[in-house]
Amino acid sequence: MNNECIFCKIIKGELPSYKVYEDNKILAFLDINPINKGHVLVLPKEHYEDTLKTPDELLSSMAVIVKKISKAVMSATGARACNIGINNGAESGQIIFHTHWHIIPRFADDGYELWQGKDSVYKDREAEKIKEKIITFSKNN
Ligand code: 5GP
Ligand code: ZN
Repeated sequence: MNNECIFCKIIKGELPSYKVYEDNKILAFLDINPINKGHVLVLPKEHYEDTLKTPDELLSSMAVIVKKISKAVMSATGARACNIGINNGAESGQIIFHTHWHIIPRFADDGYELWQGKDSVYKDREAEKIKEKIITFSKNN
């Protein structure tokens, strides 16, 4: 638990939330500023700063619950699609530094644009070099 963390306060019951799922390790509740109605956050009860700092076993449990709750969110809202999103670090848009995964029901006319890829991002042999760095790091860590 982190005394400064809003999500820890929700977990402890010191702040209110619309809970949709709870077990001994995981909690899920409605996002207070939803992207669409039914936007849910799934999080571990134990405080970790972000997904990459969360133990593998806990992440595995979260993935199973995210799948289950995503189906429930889609059923409850009539959505035929959803985004499952994770922000890691401030530059990615993370504002609450307690691991959480977003489930966002999506509709054809909801007004959001899809991410746009950029043209010509890789110069020279950059793609090959980055590919090699990723492979090397993931083999060793
Ligand atoms: P992040 O950008 O860190 O991935 O997303 C944090 C999310 O937490 C945001 O979508 C924001 O609306 C939500 N949020 C922030 N404070 C509260 C709160 O007090 N209660 C609830 N239910 N959601 C919150
Ligand atoms: Zn916390």
